Amino acid sequence: MKIVGLTGGIGSGKSTIARFFTDLGVPVYIADTEAKKLMHTDALKQAIIDLLGKDAYKENLLDRKWVAEQVFANEKLLKGLNAIVHPAVGKHFRDWANKQDSSYVIKEVAILFENGGEKECDLTILVIAPEKERVKRVMERDGVDEIAVKSRIKQQWNDEKKIPLADFIIENINLENSRKEVHEIHVKILRTLVNS
Ligand code: ADP
Repeated sequence: MKIVGLTGGIGSGKSTIARFFTDLGVPVYIADTEAKKLMHTDALKQAIIDLLGKDAYKENLLDRKWVAEQVFANEKLLKGLNAIVHPAVGKHFRDWANKQDSSYVIKEVAILFENGGEKECDLTILVIAPEKERVKRVMERDGVDEIAVKSRIKQQWNDEKKIPLADFIIENINLENSRKEVHEIHVKILRTLVNS
């Protein structure tokens, strides 16, 4: 089973691109969604409460806003949280991937190159879009203001740093073009994997 990492900054359109791969029948794992689910399992919940305190959950649901406030203000806590969540997602992903019946799977992750995650992928795809466009999309999608989006963009690596590291780059501006590019990349991935 080959693993293709799909990443891109917030608002670049990586979830949209991931859906285009789903449409082609490629199994897609959305790391962020699965991480959220895992954070509601007993084992992780206890570890997170031990790290951050019981305020991390409100009526058994993770209080994401509160947790984000704690960990982004304290690097030690952020590292601690990552040390709980990352290995759990890694194992869950491998178990999931082993069950798929296809030449390759897509793993969609917001943070890939930033933590060396590309080493666990056979190939990588980076989705990019102009910052102005990304800000507009996220403001519309999440109902947040420009300052909030820009501060989230600042927490991630910029595209210039990521571009040299990616095997494929999709500049996601026109959606129909992006869909065509996904199809072309799909064919190239299949060819690359057959030859490897
Ligand atoms: P990401 O997962 O990278 O944060 P999304 O795929 O959720 O980004 O896209 C952000 C928002 O922009 C969504 O509402 C999506 O429908 C929209 N969007 C994505 N690609 C385009 C595009 N090429 N043109 C216009 N809107 C887009």
